[in-house]
Amino acid sequence: MDSTAKSDAWRADRDHFLHPYTDFTTFQDSGSQVVSHGDAMYIVDEAGRSYLDGIAGLWCVNLGHGRSEIAQAMGDQAQQLGYFNTFGHSTNTPAALLARQLAERTPGDLNHVFFTTGGSTANDTAIRLAHYYFNRLGKPKKKKILARNGGYHGSTYFAAALTGIHGIHYGFDRIAEDIVHHLSAANCYRRPEGMDEAQFCDFLIDEARHRIEQLGADNIAAFIAEPVMGAGGVLVAPEGYHRRMAEVCQQNDILYIADEVVTGFGRLGHWFASEDRFGHVPDILITAKGLSSGYCPIGAAVFSERMYEVISKPQGPGGVLSHGFTYSGHPVSCAAALKSIELYEREDIFGKVRDTGPYLQQQLKRLSRHDVVGDIRGDHLMAGVELVSDRDAKRNFPPDLAAAEVVFGRARDYGVIVRPVGDTIILSPPLIISREQVDTLVDSLDQAIEDVS
Ligand code: PLP
Repeated sequence: MDSTAKSDAWRADRDHFLHPYTDFTTFQDSGSQVVSHGDAMYIVDEAGRSYLDGIAGLWCVNLGHGRSEIAQAMGDQAQQLGYFNTFGHSTNTPAALLARQLAERTPGDLNHVFFTTGGSTANDTAIRLAHYYFNRLGKPKKKKILARNGGYHGSTYFAAALTGIHGIHYGFDRIAEDIVHHLSAANCYRRPEGMDEAQFCDFLIDEARHRIEQLGADNIAAFIAEPVMGAGGVLVAPEGYHRRMAEVCQQNDILYIADEVVTGFGRLGHWFASEDRFGHVPDILITAKGLSSGYCPIGAAVFSERMYEVISKPQGPGGVLSHGFTYSGHPVSCAAALKSIELYEREDIFGKVRDTGPYLQQQLKRLSRHDVVGDIRGDHLMAGVELVSDRDAKRNFPPDLAAAEVVFGRARDYGVIVRPVGDTIILSPPLIISREQVDTLVDSLDQAIEDVS
């Protein structure tokens, strides 16, 4: 490719921007697609080509692109107070108001909000404070964490340690292997042969009980799970799984951490999925992404009253809760989040998702006409289409064929952005998507799969 025909931004990016999650095999040749602006469901690249955003940026731009009201709220806040720290007894108005708004919308008695810079730092916070909580209760042995294969919890060192996607660890060191223990993924498509979904659920619960027995409940602090696994391939657990896991945790004095970074803020048609979709209230709830509709970096770990009582107990002279980020409660991020919450409510966005979500899932079933489509799954506006080279054997393609990557490329030629992860094509559009735009998304994906079949 002749890079002289490319823009200055394209060259600067290729030469200096070390991109996250990037395969560098062809990076120097092909560089990046420079996205220059966005409008509602569409993004536009610097060549002026417009694409239907089928992934909400990265499961986050829930209210769609180019929302002037959010931009205005951020600008006004930046002018009024761009930053001041929230350590100790300082605060700022948007952070305080957002904490209350979150407490009012998170389930049960999850009333105490620790602000972070994103999902990874919120998960790190949850683990650090879970350990701190048990230390303060006089149970310092409770350190181990149960996570799941296929789970994604972020890229800070500990969030990566929680992550159970094997490819992500390739070439990296693993830490905390004595602390983090992975259970099986709740992958209904690849459940053991001969089991129905109910039996698979029993199997997963038995496995968890057994592992707790092996490790000793006295040594385990927490269990972390996404309500629907996202980057692991959009895996929806069998009916009753989360509720039963919450019971197992309660019986063993293990904290349940719900990582709702993707599922929170309406993707499954409700503020949060834990209670409204899956019938349980976690001890810690993690949110990010849709919290500010992706307009500003922000995350939060929200703690129960029971935990707060212990965490906030005075430690005596010199003892403080020594945890926090410079940008915990950043006023501009909090202003973006407050405006997002206002828009979610005013426009009844989650009500719309309860219509377009099932419609997307139903339309996607059409893709089963292709032999290469092994499984179609998801919940509301979170969907995964897994490609296989052999449907009966559920065999994936050899990695060098990068089948989902090829489909992604074709879909982009047709003007829609989807996300290839392993052999699964992920869809997570902005929540403002219309039924007609769902049709366009599915039609283009259908054509892209047809082309490569
Ligand atoms: N948890 C889940 C479920 C996620 O999907 C992600 C990111 O995609 C994270 C945590 C990490 O969030 P961040 O990238 O904001 O650190």
